[in-house]
Amino acid sequence: MFSRILIANRGEIALRIMRTCKRLGIETVAVYSQADRDALYLGMADHTICIGPPHPAKSYLYIKNIIAAAEIADVEAIHPGYGFLSEDAHFADICRSCKITFVGPSVEAMELMGNKVRARKVAMSAGVPVVPGSEAPVASDAEARDWARKIGYPVLIKAAMGGGGRGMRIAHNDASLASNLNAARAEAHAAFGDGSLYIEKYIESPRHVEVQILADEHGSIIHLGERDCTVQRRHQKMIEESPSPVLDRHARADIAAAAVRLMKAAKYTNAGTVEFLYDPAAKKFYFIEVNARLQVEHPVTEMVTGLDLVEEQLRIASGERLRWRQKDILNSGWAMECRVNAEDPYAGFKPCPGPVTRYVPPSGPGVRVDSHLYSGYAVPPYYDSLVAKVIVHGRDRSECIQKMRGALEEFILEGVKTTIPILKEVFEHVRFVRGNYDTRFIENEFKT
Ligand code: ADP
Repeated sequence: MFSRILIANRGEIALRIMRTCKRLGIETVAVYSQADRDALYLGMADHTICIGPPHPAKSYLYIKNIIAAAEIADVEAIHPGYGFLSEDAHFADICRSCKITFVGPSVEAMELMGNKVRARKVAMSAGVPVVPGSEAPVASDAEARDWARKIGYPVLIKAAMGGGGRGMRIAHNDASLASNLNAARAEAHAAFGDGSLYIEKYIESPRHVEVQILADEHGSIIHLGERDCTVQRRHQKMIEESPSPVLDRHARADIAAAAVRLMKAAKYTNAGTVEFLYDPAAKKFYFIEVNARLQVEHPVTEMVTGLDLVEEQLRIASGERLRWRQKDILNSGWAMECRVNAEDPYAGFKPCPGPVTRYVPPSGPGVRVDSHLYSGYAVPPYYDSLVAKVIVHGRDRSECIQKMRGALEEFILEGVKTTIPILKEVFEHVRFVRGNYDTRFIENEFKT
């Protein structure tokens, strides 16, 4: 196991990773931008290094400064968290050439999975169903139209390098396809530095179901069950749970087996997630993408499996063998997570950074809050607006719903607008309580 690592991230996930390191006796080096110098968790780190000004491109995404910090602090490994450099194969490659372990999959697996078109090909070769779509990025608008007609409208225009729901647009006919292609290309180019697009059939009423994978560098691979992340706004997750309320025993086993098959075919190592859309009416699932990193929603899997996924990531990255076989993984009860963002849910989820005047998180049996907030902390405007994750664990789904209602009610977070009010509404909504909704639930049922 490592004796000192650098955490190339900020906010709740930097703190979350640090906690596991403390428990395992691993020294931590925290890096921070000038906008994060007041982060309280910096006091928990063994070493702290300022890596630049607030703008992410000049700090958390600035490879030169991160590598310089790692060299100066003489770390053995870098944990990238999620977002920022976590899925940047170029960064992983630089780490490798500097003999610093990147806590994540190999450069090769990242390159394969980071591109959605390539990942789809691997899925098809592994016999995993994919959403019908173009087999390569479309070279021209005419080619996009041909594909769309072949697959049948409505179609979704997606960015090959996409993430965070960006560069994704629905087209219902030739005319809307033509007008959306340019906008999607520009958005993809601005967000990912690559404007390649592909076309996929738009699945009308899907659930988002994803499978957590762990794979070591010695050929062992297991899954930790699924998470259902159907409650989304603008293709971004708001609430996640495990298990999924819509899978029966057979569907659950099939989807997990498909995820394992795909990750084996990709020679994937470390923690990763295989995302699917699931059509409950047809009982069919379709691969959409692999997230080659720790996910924001990993705590729900931790709650039902009792594992610490960051610990497993560190063990795998240091060359250890998986300590578990598939039959050792006994998921128990139910878990749910709510993402609390500093946003105004009733003004189009507009980010609302600023000072937090009062912060008292909920607690109690089976309630966990992952957050870097404290009373007096100012949420900086430069980064993702996620400020806290409320996670509950109960015997079953209805116990989780009760616990989450209580936790959200108890949560005092004043000074900035947050998504807590809409989360509370969701937990009272009859369709949510019954488990009967699709990925458009929020846009269809709530005024946002
Ligand atoms: P990103 O990488 O930008 O997060 P994903 O491919 O993971 O994009 O998709 C995010 C969400 O967008 C999905 O959970 C789903 O709600 C929606 N989505 C993606 N592909 C489709 C599709 N073919 N049909 C319908 N909805 C889709």
